[in-house]
Order: sequence, then structure tokens, then C-alpha cells
Amino acid sequence: MSPPFSLGQMMSQPLLICDLLEYAAQHHEHGGIISKRLEGDIHHYSYKEALKRSKQLANALTQLGAKQGDRIGTLAWNGYRHFECYYGISGMGAICHTINPRLFSEQIEYIIQHAQDNILLVDACFIHLIEPIIEKLPSVKGIVVMIDEDHMPKTSLDNMYNYEALIAQQSTEFTWPRLDPQSAACLCYTSGTTGNPKGVLYSHESTVLHAFASRNPDALNISSDSVVMPVVPMYHVCAWGMPYIAPMAGATLVLPGSGMGGEDLYTLIDHANVDLMLGVPTVWLGLLEYLNKQNLKIPSVKTVGVGGAASPRALVEALDKQHNIYLLPIWGMTETSPLATLGAKHKAMDNMTDNERYKIQTSAGKPMFGIEMEIFDEQTNAPLPHDGISRGLLRVRGPWVIKQYYKSDNNDCLVKDSLGQDWFDTGDIATLDSHSYLRIVDRAKDVVKSGGEWISSIDLENAALGCDGVNEACVIGVKHEKWDERPLLFIVKNEKPLAKETVYQFLNEKVAKWWLPDDIIFVKELPHTATGKLQKRTLRDEYWEYLIK
Ligand code: ADP
Repeated sequence: MSPPFSLGQMMSQPLLICDLLEYAAQHHEHGGIISKRLEGDIHHYSYKEALKRSKQLANALTQLGAKQGDRIGTLAWNGYRHFECYYGISGMGAICHTINPRLFSEQIEYIIQHAQDNILLVDACFIHLIEPIIEKLPSVKGIVVMIDEDHMPKTSLDNMYNYEALIAQQSTEFTWPRLDPQSAACLCYTSGTTGNPKGVLYSHESTVLHAFASRNPDALNISSDSVVMPVVPMYHVCAWGMPYIAPMAGATLVLPGSGMGGEDLYTLIDHANVDLMLGVPTVWLGLLEYLNKQNLKIPSVKTVGVGGAASPRALVEALDKQHNIYLLPIWGMTETSPLATLGAKHKAMDNMTDNERYKIQTSAGKPMFGIEMEIFDEQTNAPLPHDGISRGLLRVRGPWVIKQYYKSDNNDCLVKDSLGQDWFDTGDIATLDSHSYLRIVDRAKDVVKSGGEWISSIDLENAALGCDGVNEACVIGVKHEKWDERPLLFIVKNEKPLAKETVYQFLNEKVAKWWLPDDIIFVKELPHTATGKLQKRTLRDEYWEYLIK
């Protein structure tokens, strides 16, 4: 018999995504969404209006045959209609599958097929990505184009609908089903390592918990006064959760559309008085360059959250000294929803030298409550000391960390520690110091991260190996001032003559343009480990600064 009072006696309310927007609409009249539209203008509306339109979308999708558990894909920039998809789709119990338009055609096709998306909601500018592959996507029964009716593009696609025309006919009433909080809500594929992209399936509960943790003062510090702009795309890990965090806080959410360049960002920051922005280092380098050239300031901005790659010291310093902006370092992954560690500003920093403060700001921050992390020795699987020196495999766990990839029949992304406890293996190699600050020092996974997006070294090597005259190929990521990293291709030739141009021409037809290596270096031989694997660390050490002028 269980002892008396062994269970708490509080209500158990499911944590559901739709309630975030219901809450904002009911209690935060002043918050709302400001979007740069693809039509060219800047659009404003309240959370109340967003809720109504999300319900109209849920009704429209139901009419098109969508049911709970169905996957509904989006191919879109950061805009208010995409926001409505986040809520309309997950709210009705279907799964909002955000597709990255920067992937190349075969990958987009693979992802849609793997997810078996049955409806796609697509920005007009991405229709051309679907047209050539639609024949190979039998699961897709309808395509909804997200643009004003009078801007509808001409296309050969059947079963096409205009978003505005479709939702205009619908009721603004929709009763959100009271789902199990563990129900799937959103699906995002990551194409970090070799092989096919893998799906990460977030639940309602994991998403809401991630939002609760992320808005805290020691994390993003978001309140109803905040004006937040995710410059990280909504197709990439739900814009780091911002479309959920902002309504939870009643903050104003600013969505920059496709405008990620310096001038576009400046115009919107100035228009909306943005105070917090999020994005990868490349974006901020572009913005700073524009501000410097035009001699402009962005006084409303207090904090820039930087993740997806290490925060370069030059960026920390430029934001601090030239603009009085705090660079808030962040580490996370698609598999961790993504926010896990942050380096928030704290009082003790007032008494630190610039160097001491910048050291924290160039780390990856420390874990939020809910995230446990540890570094493990590769050989012994034992935890390593938190001394800021010992480098180990970074493993994490928590309620918004993945346990299994979508449709995988096992949970081999998890590893056990010596106590038999499960951890997610991040593929990053890191140090932790005595204050729990994390520093990513290398990667066990074989990838290049360019401007926040993955290039698979192995896929690129395999492509190069197909070129006549190539005996061995090796790709490493090397430092790049703008893109953080770019690929460098090493080739061991056979006896046939082979020119760089021939390799480039060959690769041009095999991989996306932005995957093409920044240089190709012919070598006599490549370094190998005792077991015959390419020893990339040696090459990375030698060539790390190769592209820095
Ligand atoms: P995101 O780009 O949103 O962080 P991804 O899943 O695309 O998510 O990439 C996660 C990977 O990016 C990490 O495993 C790590 O290799 C790299 N990364 C993310 N944040 C940092 C950081 N602060 N410092 C160094 N590398 C980072």
C-alpha cells in the first residue's frame, strides 16, 4: 500500500502550445508581432489577431483533410503567416514540420518523403523548390502559398491554394483539442553528419518547458516589455524557440522575413525598437559592417544572443565598445530544442576587467535549470574534471533533449554512463570550468558549419571521389571571417592529369553551390590514424587559418 500523501494533490494541466497564444491574446494586448513581409511592407498585428487567424488556419487545414498526428510542412521565412502555422498546425494536433529551404533538392525531397507531409505551406519565393520534385512526393495532397492573393505566382502545380483566400472563408472559432502533453508538435530535420537528415520531434510539453526556462533572467531575460527579434530562421530549430517564448512573456516579436542583411536588419531594428536579437555570428558581422560603413547606431538594442557557433572575441568587443551591446553566448543543438547553455550578464561582471568579461562571453555559457551536462573521457567513459582544461565528449540530458530520432527504431543517439544512466551524445568536444562555463573545443562529428548551416564533410568527400582522377578526398572546416567556417578539400590524385577547375565543374553538378569548397589543395598523401581513418585534426591544426588574409 502506498503511504498517505505520497502523491501531490495539485491539478495536472497539460502544457500545450496553443495555450501560449491564448494567454498572450487574453492578457497582453500591447505585445504583438511586427513582420517584414515578402510583399515589401512592414506588417503589425496583435496576438489576438494572430490567434484568430491561427484558428482560421486550423479550420482550413481540417477542411483540406488534415488530421491529428499528420505532418504538415512549411517552407518559409520568418513572418506572421509562418507564426500562424506554428500555432494552427500544432494547436489542432498535427505536426508542424519546418523544412530548411537552403538544403539541396534531393534532401528536401527526402525529408518530405520521410515525414510523409500531406500539405505544404510555402512562401511564394520557395515554390520553385517544389515544382521540380512534386512528382516524387505522392504524400503531398495540397500546397498553400503564403502571399497576398494579388501576388500569387504562376505555376504548373496542381492542388494549389492561396493562404489568404483559404483562411478568409473560415470561422475564427476553433476549439483546440486537449492533447496529451507528450503529443508531437513540431518536427525539424538536422543534416549535421553523414547520411540522410534526421528528424527531431518536439512535444508540446518539451516546447513549453523550453520556453519557460529560456525566458528567465539568467537566460534570455524576456518580459512583456521586451522587443525580440529572432534572426535565426523559423525553419531552423523553431527560431530557437522565440515564437513560443515571446507569447509566453507577452513580448513583442519582430520577424525579419527574408531580410537578414545589414540594411534590412537596421531598418527593422530602428522601426520596432528591438532590444534583444538572436542569431549566428555571421549575421552580426554583416550588420556591424553596415552600421560602421553608414556610421549608424542601434541604441535600442541591449543584448545580442549568439549561438550556432563560438562567439568570436572581435564580435564581443565590437558590440561592447562600439554599441554598448552585451553579446550573450549560447550553446545548443537541434536535438536540444535548442537552448541549453547561456552566458547571461551578472552583477559580478561590473567589477571584472574587459578581458575577464570577454572570456565568459566567448565561452558557450552555463546550463539552464533542466539541462544536465557532463564531459566524458573517450577511452574510459568516466566523467572528467571541471577544470577548464580536460577535454571530453559532451553529453546532455533533460526534458527538452532528444531521446530518439523520428522513425528510428532504436535510441542509439543515447549512451550510458557507468551508472547505466542515459545521455545524449552531442558530438561536440568540450571543457567545463569550475564555474560550469562550457567551451566547445572540437567536434567528434565530421561536419563543417558555415553561416550556421551544416555541410557534411563526408558527403562532400564522397562527391569528390566520383570525379575521375581523384584517389582520395578529405574535407575539413577552416576558419572564415564571415561564415565562421568554410570547407577546404584535399585531394590525392592518381596518375591522370586533373585540374582544380575540373573538380569544381564536377562538384557543381553534385552539391549545392554554397557547399563548394573555398579551395582545393592537391597533396601527395593524407595523414591517417593507425586504423586507417583520416586524421583530420592534424590538417585542421595546420590549415585552420588558411583562409584568413
Ligand atoms: P544550432 O545551429 O541552432 O545551434 P544545430 O543543431 O544546427 O543547432 O548545431 C548544433 C551544433 O552547433 C553544436 O553541436 C555545435 O557543434 C555548434 N555550436 C552551437 N553553439 C555553439 C557555440 N556556442 N560554440 C561552438 N559551437 C557551437
